[in-house]
Amino acid sequence: MTMQTDYRYVLRATVSGDGQQVELPMQPDWDAAVRWCHLQGMRSGVLPPRSTAPTARIRPVWQPAGEPRVQAFELSLDAPDREPFVARVEARYLEDDIAVAIAGLARDGRLDGIGPIDYELCAHRDPAWSRRGDAVSDEATLEPIDEPLDPAPLSLATALARCERHGPETSAETDVPCIVPREVLDECIDRSRRAGDVEAGGLLVGRLVQNPDTSELGVVIRAHIPARHTRADRTSLTFTARTWADADAAISLRGDAEQVVGWVHHHPNLCARCPLENREGCPYASPFFSEADRTVHRAAFPNAWSVGLLLSWYDDPEPSVDMYGWRQGRIEARAFHVATSDAIEEFLGVPKP
Ligand SMILES: [Zn+2]
Repeated sequence: MTMQTDYRYVLRATVSGDGQQVELPMQPDWDAAVRWCHLQGMRSGVLPPRSTAPTARIRPVWQPAGEPRVQAFELSLDAPDREPFVARVEARYLEDDIAVAIAGLARDGRLDGIGPIDYELCAHRDPAWSRRGDAVSDEATLEPIDEPLDPAPLSLATALARCERHGPETSAETDVPCIVPREVLDECIDRSRRAGDVEAGGLLVGRLVQNPDTSELGVVIRAHIPARHTRADRTSLTFTARTWADADAAISLRGDAEQVVGWVHHHPNLCARCPLENREGCPYASPFFSEADRTVHRAAFPNAWSVGLLLSWYDDPEPSVDMYGWRQGRIEARAFHVATSDAIEEFLGVPKP
């Protein structure tokens, strides 16, 4: 993945009551944004379905007041034999980096204990910056292998019409559809019920699918591999090298061009002993992807179509089932679609034994 930008990004912050401004250099990691735009390009049919994004050029989109204040980023990805594919990523993409920069200011004692400060993201044109970026990528020896993704042909609209939709409404057009077998959900719930108070996890295995007419991509989950050799406690879960070796072995046994498309874990009822009146506004009283969960997702499931299924136990006998995934390079709650395994095998054209 090669990225080029002629801009240097800085956070311009007002640090104290006297209005003094400082510029904090930002070093954005563009990887998730590029991967997201690559996925949009493949969904639109402009980019061929491949595992690695083509060269991406990144430039700021100015706020209405103009340069140097940044509202969004425009990414253009090289397309074979045609105009580049262009997509927009909102400046919110950098909100975690901004929070870190602001926290650094506070730590350095530069905020003088004065209330909220003003800050804005700015960009300065600096072609030398881009050349430096190129030098870094030339030295990188661990370039990922670029392979065709080989999605299975599937008319997604027809399949989705036979599924039951779960999750937030907002994600309908922005996220690639993800289909989950009812039986896989039931297995995950069963296993999680037995695991009790530790976070039990697993990998979700499936296929990428693509509508040959519209190019729309989707993810069809077909199985759940309980993750062995994980390190787990009440609030975190770590996949180890042995977890992955297990998964690879299981996938090659199954054959059929499958891949790990996501993961599943659960959160025990962290509010079990809280008095009811404390639960309003308590972050543990509704499903959440924790900072640790985000770290796992970023590190182990960076593909823009990767999903994270979360089972959250409360006082009800059944857990809340929620799905998270990448949107605009950020991890957000998203929708998913449930059907029986038989229906899903039929969508995929797998002959019945
Ligand atoms: Zn978690």
